[in-house]
Amino acid sequence: MKFPLSMTAGMARYIVKNKLRPRPEWQVDKAVVNDASNPFKIIYTASTGEAREPHPMIKKRFPIVLMLEPLHACNLTCTGCGRIREYESSITQRLTLEQCLKAVDECGAPMVSICGGEPLLYPEIGPLAAGILERGLSCYLCTNGMFLVKRLKDFTPAEKFFFNVHLDGMEQNHDLAVERSGVFREATAGIKAAKAAGFKVVTNTTVYKETDMKEIEELFEFLKTLGVDGHTISPAYGYSAVNDREIFMTRDDVHEKFRDFDKLARKYPLQSTPVYMEFLQGKRDLPCTAWGNPTYNVKGWKGPCYLITDAHYKTFEEFMTRTPWNNYGPGSDPRCEHCMMHCGFEPSAAYGINSKPGDPFRMLTWLLR
Ligand code: SF4
Repeated sequence: MKFPLSMTAGMARYIVKNKLRPRPEWQVDKAVVNDASNPFKIIYTASTGEAREPHPMIKKRFPIVLMLEPLHACNLTCTGCGRIREYESSITQRLTLEQCLKAVDECGAPMVSICGGEPLLYPEIGPLAAGILERGLSCYLCTNGMFLVKRLKDFTPAEKFFFNVHLDGMEQNHDLAVERSGVFREATAGIKAAKAAGFKVVTNTTVYKETDMKEIEELFEFLKTLGVDGHTISPAYGYSAVNDREIFMTRDDVHEKFRDFDKLARKYPLQSTPVYMEFLQGKRDLPCTAWGNPTYNVKGWKGPCYLITDAHYKTFEEFMTRTPWNNYGPGSDPRCEHCMMHCGFEPSAAYGINSKPGDPFRMLTWLLR
């Protein structure tokens, strides 16, 4: 099975409960409507002459995965990473352990993804992961893998705990993407050590314009020999902090890149949902539900999403209620036009938006594989 039964059942219970009884305090709209303040906003009625359909989840907003960034410092300068550029002025700051766990409680999402920066540089990373697991939540620790061997002693294997190691290709291309040689070797040494110590390990891969999908298959085949438990994959997106690069794809590029991905999805334990995969292939549309993947860091709750920063809010409730959600997503903000990132659209798949009759069966097959 792809995920432990307790994790799947807990997530399903959480989604059903929140869909039936969304927390009323999160559904209030306190956004200051001042379109002049967002020069990017597309005024839909002005361009089409029609009133827009309301977003299917706008009154049922709840988070699914908290993206927790205890620090932004990193030992690498990866090509596609916006954090080290966007947060350059606060790169030496970090959240305290108490601030991290307070954010976890405030948000209440059943899954926490610790990212950054490089989380293994965070001195209290062990107690942070333990604190998340003690709350009965699932924890993914996203890492470049370089300090994995050294810091394994700070963790205990657990059913709902995963190391999520970043690998964008085989040795030559991965080292090129992270702009340093030797990283692939250290990361895979870390994976081997973690597996030998009884930990669950998954990988995350960003697909760029230049990525050869045959190499992704080669990578997955190699990771199979290391006993890796699953893979997430997402197309790179040229959001504001990194959009001066030539490596990002349009929606058409993404559809083309993922056209034959079904073969890989059948062969390897993919953690991305089949609904999200169909979205990447252009077989179905999904709206953005960025509130499903909120981000918390040293500046506060980052709005609207992991990619774009138009504001930082002090509390989670402010993030939920003050973000002008209708201003974002493809068709509303040019910065969102080609975005197909999992942080905006994977929650839409989990919420069951635009679902088709065969979806429950497809999801079940995916979960059991
Ligand atoms: S579509 Fe959603 S996730 Fe993507 S950049 Fe826009 S607000 Fe962020």
